[in-house]
Amino acid sequence: MASKRMSKIFPSFWWMLCSILTGAIFVGVVYKMQSHPMMFGMSPAEAYLSVASFAGILLCGVGMLGERVFRMRRDHIQLSEQVLDSQVAAERAREEAERLAFYDPLTDLPNRRLLLDRLQQAFTDAQGSRQWGAAIVLDLDHFKPINDIHGHAAGDDLLRAVGQRLASGLRRRDTVGRYGGDEFVILLENMGSSREVATRAAERVAQKARALVSRTVTLSGGPASISASLGIALFPVPDQANALEVLRQADIALSRSRELGCDGTCVFESSMALELRQRRAFDYPLRGALERQEFFLYLQAKNDVHGQVKGAEVLLRWEHPELGRVAPEIFIPLAEESGAILALGEWVLRQSCILLAQTAHLGVEYSLSVNVSPRQLRQSGFIAMIQNILQETGAPAFRLTLEVTEGQFLSNIDHVIAVLRELRDMGVRISIDDFGTGYSCLFYLQKLPLDEIKIDQSFIQSAPNDPSCAVLVDAILAITRQFGLDVVAEGVESQAQLAFLVDRGCTRFQGYYFGHPQPVVEFLATLDSTRESHFGDRQRLAAIETLAHGREPADNTDGPR
Ligand code: C2E
Ligand code: CA
Ligand code: CA
Repeated sequence: MASKRMSKIFPSFWWMLCSILTGAIFVGVVYKMQSHPMMFGMSPAEAYLSVASFAGILLCGVGMLGERVFRMRRDHIQLSEQVLDSQVAAERAREEAERLAFYDPLTDLPNRRLLLDRLQQAFTDAQGSRQWGAAIVLDLDHFKPINDIHGHAAGDDLLRAVGQRLASGLRRRDTVGRYGGDEFVILLENMGSSREVATRAAERVAQKARALVSRTVTLSGGPASISASLGIALFPVPDQANALEVLRQADIALSRSRELGCDGTCVFESSMALELRQRRAFDYPLRGALERQEFFLYLQAKNDVHGQVKGAEVLLRWEHPELGRVAPEIFIPLAEESGAILALGEWVLRQSCILLAQTAHLGVEYSLSVNVSPRQLRQSGFIAMIQNILQETGAPAFRLTLEVTEGQFLSNIDHVIAVLRELRDMGVRISIDDFGTGYSCLFYLQKLPLDEIKIDQSFIQSAPNDPSCAVLVDAILAITRQFGLDVVAEGVESQAQLAFLVDRGCTRFQGYYFGHPQPVVEFLATLDSTRESHFGDRQRLAAIETLAHGREPADNTDGPR
């Protein structure tokens, strides 16, 4: 840099130096010549001219050489500086690329890739040593509603806060990373030489992690309390092939923990392996299963207080050729994730409307309730699809009830309201499923075009023995009366639960106490004492059977879950 400045101030430093030198030589020669007037036989004038020419040539030569040396040196310095700059930039870019490749930009924690790398390394190390390791998958409870209600920026703040708490609250040697969305993974190594010791140690870490997360956070929209559900998988065990398998097992344990209620921890056990195998089966597209006619429908009655059937809920079943009966709790979320639910849901709706049309023709007084998944409700053309199905099948719209869950109202409520209004204008009935498990219930009741609500079975089952659940059921019944809505109590399993509900004025019930879900034909047959009286003739029965089933199920009992 300094040389650049010098070259600007003295553009021809070398020229000046040469001029001074040449001038000095010239002056020196002239001085000498004055003392020796005759040199080399030349007159003084000739000698002056020769010396001047010689000095001029010398001046040019040395000046040019000097200039060239100077330029080369300057270029070299500039080049070195550029090389240095580009090396620093390249190093920075490399560091940044590495950070982006291995660290989550939101939380600065190791990302999925780095986590998998480390887990694979830990897995291999554990295989070679006598030490157990554990992977804990931590998933925030009800994160989506927080994101939807408070906004994505608040959701990001929350994820950052959770990441920080976990990273600073756990031991330094434990790896905490963000696996994606609201899912974090904690990797624990050297947890002990026996499985029992390692399990207990991992459970203690999980408990600590839950305590770290389960605190109130202040978001832009106000305070929000959060909790997390956790799944633990120990490694290495024989049926784990790699790190991914460990995480899958932890994920299954997490699902189990969710099934038991939020804010809990479950350790993966080999008994959950069947579930794992079933999940793997879903790596193949579900649409294939629909074409292979592996799905069929079950019906479960909705009864009045006298046990009379007032309608039925349509429940989807999947009979996998190798895995056997797969629970809807497993395949519905996966179908929802993959988008296969759109084709599946349409099939259920069509089959249900065909059934409605067939049985309405026979004069059977009942309606069918069909579950509609969030993705279907957001699907463009959903209304037109239902309209077409109703037209094509001739099913009366007023006998079709669509069951939607509260979670579906959280995002894009205006769109949902518009869709439900149009459906209702067509005569279709709208029901809120699993009522009480979502958010801002009163707000929805006031805003949405509704006909029915179904009180979630968790409240019904606890209500007779749990005063707080009893109060909740009371309140829901009072509110629905106020809004003039029908109400169905789901999951009624005992006489005590029924008595409790009847006492409080509930009039519609669904649950094992009245009957388990059954294959369509069996269900219809039980509606009356004789099967023949319902279906008129066997030909019609056969027709219904083909329409309602992909094929005849191998085992048609649907016991308690
Ligand atoms: P859901 O809509 O809440 O359906 C009621 C579930 O409770 C059914 O489980 C039913 O068999 C079960 N159940 C009924 N009575 C009792 C009882 O007394 N005790 C207990 N413990 N359980 C009872 P299922 O058939 O396994 O379905 C589970 C979930 O899968 C359904 O919950 C629904 O959300 C979903 N699902 C089922 N079929 C469809 C479908 O065609 N489309 C969509 N989108 N979802 C479906
Ligand atoms: Ca339902
Ligand atoms: Ca339900």
